[in-house]
Amino acid sequence: MAEVKTVAVIGAGTMGRGIAHAAALGGYRTILEDLLPNALRKAETEIRANLDQAVELGKVNAADANAAFARLEYAGSVDQAAREADLVIEAVPEEMESKIEIFTLLDKICRPATILASNTSSLSITEIASVTYRAKKCVGMHFFNPVHKMKLLEVVRALETDAETLAAAVEVGKRMGKEVVVIKEAPGFITSRINAMIGNEAFYMLQEGVASAEDIDKALKLGLNHPMGPFELVDLVGLDTRLHILEYLHKSLGEKFRPCPLLAQYVKAGRLGRKSGRGVFEYPAACSSTLTWQGNKRPYSASITK
Ligand code: NAD
Repeated sequence: MAEVKTVAVIGAGTMGRGIAHAAALGGYRTILEDLLPNALRKAETEIRANLDQAVELGKVNAADANAAFARLEYAGSVDQAAREADLVIEAVPEEMESKIEIFTLLDKICRPATILASNTSSLSITEIASVTYRAKKCVGMHFFNPVHKMKLLEVVRALETDAETLAAAVEVGKRMGKEVVVIKEAPGFITSRINAMIGNEAFYMLQEGVASAEDIDKALKLGLNHPMGPFELVDLVGLDTRLHILEYLHKSLGEKFRPCPLLAQYVKAGRLGRKSGRGVFEYPAACSSTLTWQGNKRPYSASITK
């Protein structure tokens, strides 16, 4: 199995910057890329702050944190980021067209031995891989938010993923400090499928006026021992991301995943969660650290596909 030394991460949003943080801390030369220069700047600031916090909490020593920070590079184009990578992890928005566009490009740019991974929460890796000439070197690496704290990595074996690629993804995940579960591809894998169902039901309850968002969260935390309520969690995940996942699960697994109209309405209003300053709850501090797309209150994905 060829050793992975350089990891490129495409998309420096909520997930991409966390994946880059964990990859750099795992000892990999890590190159982060995004369409928006602002997203890269924000990623750099956030990764530094998260590394500093880990040092303060005694989870990482200062020398390791500084070495990880020094292993990070920021690229202005996919070409620049992926050319020398042994593994590319794509973390662009949860839309099949975006994933296909990136994988088509990566297949042309990258060396034949380079592994192409997607951090998709639900989409078919087999379908994404089908646009490349290296389907056996394509794999799912589903990290969790916030990546630098969450322990799990779901490694997804698509129809044609070969054993060597799967083993490399597992090995990289372990070096990034994750517990790994390997699963056969299925829509929403294990976690997104169950989580989307719970989160959607919570929106239906809010829409029906069964209880307030605060009380629904409180009930799940105190009555069912969930560490976070479904609304706190969807604000962290991003309402647009959750909606994309539900639309895909609805299409692939049927009626029980039909997205709640209230969720779709919040997304139309630009209430995307913490990243836009307002989702189910409000986050005034996030509003002031503007990225360009926040001003027009549009769903993020809509603003970049135009
Ligand atoms: P996000 O909206 O926070 O970030 C996406 C980033 O990708 C943005 O910075 C955007 O500028 C960039 N981007 C868009 N198109 C691009 C392109 N063509 N080239 C380079 N960069 C591009 O989204 P996110 O929450 O980080 O989600 C990314 C992926 O991770 C999705 O597939 C999502 O389903 C998955 N995921 C998300 C979570 C979560 O909790 N948010 C958890 C697990 C997996």
